[in-house]
Amino acid sequence: MVVAEGFVVVDASRCDLCGACVAVCEPLALRIEGSALRYEAEACTACGECLICCPGEALAEGP
Ligand code: SF4
Ligand code: SF4
Repeated sequence: MVVAEGFVVVDASRCDLCGACVAVCEPLALRIEGSALRYEAEACTACGECLICCPGEALAEGP
């Protein structure tokens, strides 16, 4: 499922919950909750770091 909420669009079907994006997101806009990656658009500063680091290309810049 693709979820568009803000700057980052998460394609959960490509995410293996490796945690790399969570580690680089300084404002803590990304977190793993159970078996899902959660993205909080309000906290996101649109730095783009998570888009670069995802090995599964599960993250994309939103509309
Ligand atoms: S763009 Fe930056 S602030 Fe936004 S979720 Fe990605 S790493 Fe976090
Ligand atoms: S870096 Fe990519 S694969 Fe890893 S948890 Fe984040 S979105 Fe999922």
